[in-house]
Amino acid sequence: MIVVTLNEDADPAAVRRALVARGLWVETLETSGRVTHLAAVPPSADVDPGTLLAIPGVSDVAATPSRHPRVDAHPTAVRVGGVAIGAGAAPVLLAGPCSVESERQIFEAAERVARAGARFLRGGAFKPRTSPYTFQGHGARALGWLRRAADAHGLAVVTEATTPEEAGAVADIADLVQVGSRNMASFGLLAAVGRTGRPVMLKRGMAATVEEWLLAGEHLLVHGAPAVVFCERGVSGGGGSTRNLVDIAAAALLAHVHHLPVVVDPSHGTGRRDLVVPLALAAVAAGAAGVLVETHDDPGAALSDGPQALSTAELARLAAALGVHAPDERRARHG
Ligand code: PEP
Ligand code: MN
Repeated sequence: MIVVTLNEDADPAAVRRALVARGLWVETLETSGRVTHLAAVPPSADVDPGTLLAIPGVSDVAATPSRHPRVDAHPTAVRVGGVAIGAGAAPVLLAGPCSVESERQIFEAAERVARAGARFLRGGAFKPRTSPYTFQGHGARALGWLRRAADAHGLAVVTEATTPEEAGAVADIADLVQVGSRNMASFGLLAAVGRTGRPVMLKRGMAATVEEWLLAGEHLLVHGAPAVVFCERGVSGGGGSTRNLVDIAAAALLAHVHHLPVVVDPSHGTGRRDLVVPLALAAVAAGAAGVLVETHDDPGAALSDGPQALSTAELARLAAALGVHAPDERRARHG
């Protein structure tokens, strides 16, 4: 919040107009029936508080210190597993099945996603499932399959750690350690993942505010994470017509106001494969550095999240829409 103190002879309405003109939301604070201060809330506009002192009638400007200084200082683009993610870089496609179902399946998936132009192979070894009666993932042995499959096709790996105990094993094989939506505020996990020293993809909690999401990023950075890629995956609500509500505005806010690397997951965001391409395009148009999507060679047979998995043809359509290219095509274009 930015609190603006007025001179005794200030015209509060004129100062208010000047603040609103800079994009600030303004609340009036009265002392003994006189407007003495104006408060800018929430501080979402990209305004340097010091510049507000130039407004006639303003005697002082005090900005509450940020609660996430490390996030504020985080670079706007990072390099992870040899791939640039963030402002100025080409959109990055991170793709793969919801779960690593077998060694054969993940090798086949790696081949398909590499051919489509993805740079990261995703796939859950440790699955945070809402029901305890559904497939929970193959655990540690799936990590080795995932790494070898990615290496065979020149891909980086993103996969999730769900407990502090798993963090080390996941970080040993992953280029980007995923913290899932259900665990965004599991502070012990954030500390353990941060301590591994690996870059992290931090999914937004399904009921988290943007500020809570940024503070979760601060937890990771304070414990040693060298980089955080934020992932908007939709928040709860909306009456069930889509699985979640994809907050494209939050992605734009992180990209353009906080200047952070942010990707969007339209698969978990919508739960519908027919909406993945339009939402992916909306995300990139809004400033997202890339998209995380689920794909399966036989979506109907997927052990988890089949309804939102893209077929191979749909993955190719997504890649074409995003303008991402397979390695041989990339070489041909860029020499
Ligand atoms: C996932 O990406 O595998 C996943 C479980 O997603 P989320 O945490 O967004 O539900
Ligand atoms: Mn999934």
